[in-house]
Amino acid sequence: MKKLKKCESCGVPNFVSQNLFWYQNGMIAKPKKKGLFIVSIGVEELDNLYKGIEKKIGLPIDRLIIATKIAITFQFIEVEFPDAVRRMLRLLGRVIKRSKSLKNLMIKIALKRERGLLDFLGWGVVENIKMENSGISAELINPAILPLMIGGTSGSMQYIFGHPSAEANWEEKEGVAKISMKFLKKESKLAKYVHRPLTYSETNLLPGEADYHYCLKCGVSMEIAEFFRWEPEKASFYQKKTGKRYMSMSTFNFNDIFKMLEGELGKEIPKIIVDLEKEYIKKNFQDIKTEANLERGELKGEEEDYRALLNIISIKGFGIAVEIKKQGKDLKVRINNPGNEAYLAGIISGMYEAIEKTETQVQWLPSTEGYTIITVSPK
Ligand SMILES: [Zn+2]
Repeated sequence: MKKLKKCESCGVPNFVSQNLFWYQNGMIAKPKKKGLFIVSIGVEELDNLYKGIEKKIGLPIDRLIIATKIAITFQFIEVEFPDAVRRMLRLLGRVIKRSKSLKNLMIKIALKRERGLLDFLGWGVVENIKMENSGISAELINPAILPLMIGGTSGSMQYIFGHPSAEANWEEKEGVAKISMKFLKKESKLAKYVHRPLTYSETNLLPGEADYHYCLKCGVSMEIAEFFRWEPEKASFYQKKTGKRYMSMSTFNFNDIFKMLEGELGKEIPKIIVDLEKEYIKKNFQDIKTEANLERGELKGEEEDYRALLNIISIKGFGIAVEIKKQGKDLKVRINNPGNEAYLAGIISGMYEAIEKTETQVQWLPSTEGYTIITVSPK
């Protein structure tokens, strides 16, 4: 079992406080305004979106997700790894292409780094990555979302050894997926949906006041220490009170998968996301209330109720609700630094329908200025 180093004061594992910081403006990134933006989302919640899209469209999307995730992983490494490390990885990858034992040594080194990432992102455990004749094989244990993890694992190996795309096969049994990836010479056409993402320091963000109180020892917000519980031996983390499993990923990873699905499957994808998320929130509303510390409260649909519920948007890294107005029956929410408008519109309309027991329509402003206004009204 892994030895877990954690903060003596708040109990949060060190791998969390070293890699993630919850900012007052509703964003999650590395401490000191570094690195890519991160979102956290319920595993069941994300699975509901992917499976729901699959069902609505009537086509399997696993392979599309895997191919896109490979391209996302390339960009992730480009942005997150220091220049010298990337150059060394690629150089070694090229030099040792012919030696199987050296390749396996490289994989061991890369795997160590990848496991560190998977721990705090909560994706599950990778074991036994092996170089095969024309690709790799590996075992993925307790994967949060299997196609994302297949694409991520293969993508990091492909980056090193210079293979632009790969074809996946897998078999899943009792929480363990055995995968094999065959490397291909040509870049996947889905790579066109993935561009270099901006880091915290490259982005103009709007302000917000999430009202976090930070641990004086490790810097993690106490609200987060109260919200999540980590299990590093399973590379997973959970909401403390509901026990629901969560996972984290870069915000561009979350968005580029949907951008690709929209490009490949049709313009109605954002609308499908709204509907799926709305239904998910309604079905799980007791848990949503619990997450917002409102499990015992009676909600009447006042601005205060929505304010308390919408705190979870910032905890998940999807921006911050800075204005919440009830005008007659209409609910207007302004969100600064929104992570994904369709997803947020689904959350807010789902909360409205759960509380006010009526069907709604929802509209949003595109966030070209760094904010969106989401308006929910009864149908
Ligand atoms: Zn602490």
